[in-house]
Amino acid sequence: MKILFTASECVPFIKTGGLADVVGALAPVLAAQGHDVRVMVPLYSKIPDTYVNEMTHVLDFEVQLGWRKQYCGIEMLVRDGVTYYFVDNKFYFGRSYIYGLGGDEYERFGFFCRACLNSLPLLDFQPDVIHAHDWQSGMVPALLKIQYAHLPFFSAVKTMFTIHNLQYQGIFGIREVQDVLGLGDSLWTNDKLECFGCANYLKAGLVYSDLITTVSPSYAEEIQTAYYGERLDGLLRARKHEVYGILNGLDVVDYNPAEDNSIAAKFTSEDLSGKAECKLALQREMNLTEDPNIPIIGMVGRLSNQKGLDLVDCVLGDMIDQNVQLVVLGMGESRYVNLFEWAQSAFPGRVACRFDMDSALAHRIYAGCDMFLMPSQFEPCGLSQMIAMRYGTIPIVRETGGLRDTVLSYNEFTGEGNGFTFFNYNAHDMLHVIERATEYYHDHKDVWNLLQKRGMTTDFSWTRSANRYVELYRGMIGETELRDPSEPEESPVAVVETAAPVEPEKPKKRTTRKAAPKAEGAAEEKPKKRTTTKKAAAADEAVTEEKPKKRTTKKAAAETEEKPKKRTTKKAEAAAETASEEQPKKRVRKTAVKKEETKE
Ligand code: ADP
Repeated sequence: MKILFTASECVPFIKTGGLADVVGALAPVLAAQGHDVRVMVPLYSKIPDTYVNEMTHVLDFEVQLGWRKQYCGIEMLVRDGVTYYFVDNKFYFGRSYIYGLGGDEYERFGFFCRACLNSLPLLDFQPDVIHAHDWQSGMVPALLKIQYAHLPFFSAVKTMFTIHNLQYQGIFGIREVQDVLGLGDSLWTNDKLECFGCANYLKAGLVYSDLITTVSPSYAEEIQTAYYGERLDGLLRARKHEVYGILNGLDVVDYNPAEDNSIAAKFTSEDLSGKAECKLALQREMNLTEDPNIPIIGMVGRLSNQKGLDLVDCVLGDMIDQNVQLVVLGMGESRYVNLFEWAQSAFPGRVACRFDMDSALAHRIYAGCDMFLMPSQFEPCGLSQMIAMRYGTIPIVRETGGLRDTVLSYNEFTGEGNGFTFFNYNAHDMLHVIERATEYYHDHKDVWNLLQKRGMTTDFSWTRSANRYVELYRGMIGETELRDPSEPEESPVAVVETAAPVEPEKPKKRTTRKAAPKAEGAAEEKPKKRTTTKKAAAADEAVTEEKPKKRTTKKAAAETEEKPKKRTTKKAEAAAETASEEQPKKRVRKTAVKKEETKE
């Protein structure tokens, strides 16, 4: 099959987030399966010279954008069996930023979308499928259907549009977009391009693509509700028979603790001794108290509201009170930079943060921490929790989107699970789950080691996801029949359905462990300013009001307030009946049983 990806970023050339990881990892896997895969990305000036020097100039032409004629060069680089085309125009992409600052994003990415389509006949590459990613490529399916489909070259080309994050939509004025892309007045109705009085590139992709996918099955469901739908839920519901959720994979070569040169000591699921060395090295590097018995909680990612950092803000002092250490690596909103800077000075030796884009440090954090916290408000897929598991670091996550599909809360009665989760967007729910995890860390080492081993041996590779995409590509071009998107996806998470309960006893009542001794000259252990329980409780109330309603069906709500039962199979229900009230009931997956775990 001939497949063209259009995207605004792609590793290893240029990255601001998970989109780059997905495009950069999926394309070579598809190529390795024998497909002709080509990727088009803008030639930003931020792309390192090492790659630019490898590129060859294949063609140049002019792109008509309304009254403007703009130069477009196509530079090419072949790597891992994939042909990468870089769309060159210095005016649009030769800037010091990738997104956002110039106020002409509609023109930059309008140019990019048109240049991608115009270049195909010149490159003599006629794809079976164009796979467009996120709003920056949203106009590719729209322009193709509206302005190119009558041409014989394009008439058979099918399009897939993937949502990596519905929050970012590319919303602009209609007149500006018309001026650049020449889309006539009749197209600006709300069943076509108009969106609440504006042009919306993401909506254009959703309306005009043949199939829509997003990056996890749960997020595919969630975005069809008002709470997560970012005002496009109606459209997504209208197309629900063409909306698929395919879980992202991981680059398991880059994230491999057995081969990772950026960590202090390599380790495997069979021998975790290197992880203890990584922990001490991380404590030393980040100026934390060097103590192998204090659990370290890690956070790596964008410092944005999406990541649930307001929950951390609410209960940060209470978290640290449990005698844990916190390491944060991220860049983003000043509100959270200030929060973690303050925490670092208020809790010396116990909180450390870095505000940088530092991939090697990220690896050292994944390897050196004991737990990884992701209390996201919403999470299309999330890669960090999977990376953490690869490094034997236990995830603590909110049950949303891809987090819900990859982390199953430990169930002490059935022995299932690979981490710890909470459902409500509530700071104290998060705090209680951190307490629960800490108790297992200290008092149930056998369970802890089992969870580590499970995470490290789960198959998060791209192969499974790539097969799902190929299945959909084939369905689109009529080679096979498309399956119904509502059919449950098989989860990569290994569940030990037949394993005996690991510890049938309820975890002990919460105890606040003795805090670590204060470093010399340290500030008050728990400065009142940010951590009064009243304030946190008030904030809890505020955020709890926003609790997503969708997953709590009336029936489930009658049975249990916080645990909607939608995903509970009969088998799980039967098991749950024999357990006490606190037993997590709701999530059991039909997946392969790991041999070594079954033995245990
Ligand atoms: P996003 O919502 O940003 O796409 P994901 O969890 O899907 O979040 O992917 C984020 C990726 O970026 C992960 O691989 C994570 O390790 C990496 N990352 C995020 N922030 C940083 C940072 N400051 N330094 C290094 N890597 C980072």
